[in-house]
Formats: sequence, C-alpha cells, structure tokens
Amino acid sequence: LVSRENHDSRTVVSVRGVPIGGDNMTVIAGPCAVETPEQTLEAARMARAAGAALLRGGAYKPRTSPYAFQGLGEEGLKILADVREKTGLPIVTEVVDAADVELVASYADMLQVGTRNMQNFALLQAVGDAGKPVLLKRGMSATIEEWLMAAEYIAQRGNLDIVLCERGIRTFEKATRNTLDISAVPVAQNLTHLPVIVDPSHSGGKRDLVLPLSRAAIAIGADGVIVDVHPSPETALCDGPQALLEEDLAELRDLSATLATLS
Ligand code: PEP
Repeated sequence: LVSRENHDSRTVVSVRGVPIGGDNMTVIAGPCAVETPEQTLEAARMARAAGAALLRGGAYKPRTSPYAFQGLGEEGLKILADVREKTGLPIVTEVVDAADVELVASYADMLQVGTRNMQNFALLQAVGDAGKPVLLKRGMSATIEEWLMAAEYIAQRGNLDIVLCERGIRTFEKATRNTLDISAVPVAQNLTHLPVIVDPSHSGGKRDLVLPLSRAAIAIGADGVIVDVHPSPETALCDGPQALLEEDLAELRDLSATLATLS
C-alpha cells in the first residue's frame, strides 16, 4: 500500500488544511515537551517566526530514564489545544501507548509515533484506526525497509495519511546524538509515495547542528523538517541543548522559503 508501485502521484498529506508533500516544504516546530501554558504559547510564537505551519509538542514523552520528565499527559494535550485556539497552528503530538490513542486523537491534528515505538505493531494499528494523519519516525536501529513495513501496518487499517520522518540512526559515531541518514530521504522517496521529512534536532542533538542539517534536508529534497524550539532552553525539562533560539528562527524561515521558490 505504501509502495510507489501502483501509485502514479506522490501523496500530499493534509493536516487540518496544511499540506505535507508535493511541492511543499513544510516546517513543523515547537517545544520538545509541553511544560506550561506560557512556555507552549511562547514556543508557538517562535515556531511561527521560524516559518512553521504546524506546532509540535510532546505531552507523553518516551524517556530513556524512568526518572526523567515523562510529560504532562492529558493536561499537556489541553494546553496544546488551547494554544491551537490562540494561534491557529494545528498540533502534532506523540502517542506512546495504544490505550491512549483515542484520547490523544481527540486533541491532536496529527499523531506522532516516535523512534522507540516504530515497531510497536499494536500502536501502529491503533493509530491506523484513529482517523488522523500520522507522523511515523524511523526507528533508530531500523532499516528503511522495516520503516516502510511499519508504515504498511498503519496503511493496512485504511489510513494512507502517513508522513515518514528520518530522525537519525544509531552508529558508532559519538559526536552526534544519532547519525542523520540523509540518504534515507531519496531512498525512501524512491520506494514510497508518502512524504518524507527530517528531524535535525533529535538526530544531531545539538543546537549548532540543527540549521546545517536542515539545509542538508532541504537540499536533498525532503518534504519538510520538524524542529525543536524553546523560549528558555537552559530550563527546558527535555532536550534543551538541541532547541533553537530566537536568533536562529529567521534563518530557518528563510531556508524553507528559498526552497518554496525553487520548487
Ligand atoms: C520527539 O520528537 O519528541 C521525539 C522523542 O523524537 P524521537 O522519537 O525521534 O526520539
């Protein structure tokens, strides 16, 4: 179902009217985690300044350590819905448990399946049934074929509104959090009709890598980027070191605008 064979055209996924795929270069931005109403609203303002058409933000956080901030749960979803009301930005948020899909889908405009859950097949089927577009991140140790098979689980439930996200893979290299597999973008685009975007924040793991990796993503023909921004990264409860600052936003906006004029 997700293969390019038998599909003449590339899929354009609409998230509350915002297109991902086709000739579009879609920027999704926002905080890694929803922390407070004020922080989320301010991050949404930053997202807009970065040229984002969609707001990201995690209310359920899949953390490596069980002692790390796990997200605000439904309270975080309510904050996101309120910020959508105030800003008009549709929201993309992660769901980590099949049992929560209905609840998260009642607030979210797009459901994110994170790297750690790419092969959580019960979750994939549940998001496939939820009637919302899905952002499917590549498992950090998954091959491109395994990633596409994960998308197939969602598609099998009748949902072809799937956007793939390359977010870096595990390699021997320690200089970056993960190694951005930039070649996965054209490889996947050759194999599937689904849009493919890049997460330069979770791959590099460092603020100063986010714009260079975004440039690479745009240059190679990705359908978009999803980027962390935070009004005060030094106090962030999750992944502050990779969040863009106010002074970085215009460059990201100009990068995506440049591509829009080229395509
Ligand atoms: C995220 O986008 O918030 C996230 C946790 O990403 P990943 O699943 O790629 O680590």
